[in-house]
Amino acid sequence: MPSRCSAPRCTNSNKDGYCCVTFAQDPELRRKWIDAVRITDWEPSKTAVLCEVKH
Ligand SMILES: [Zn+2]
Repeated sequence: MPSRCSAPRCTNSNKDGYCCVTFAQDPELRRKWIDAVRITDWEPSKTAVLCEVKH
């Protein structure tokens, strides 16, 4: 099953050959990731992934 990147306006998925990693389970690390993609009003699901591209 393809995993689509969770970042806004990003449609990369591992189906397209992008390396997608599952969101960190550690709460502090998750917050850093959320900060990194500059989303303020968003909580990633347990299965959310991010692609290798910097957002
Ligand atoms: Zn992405």
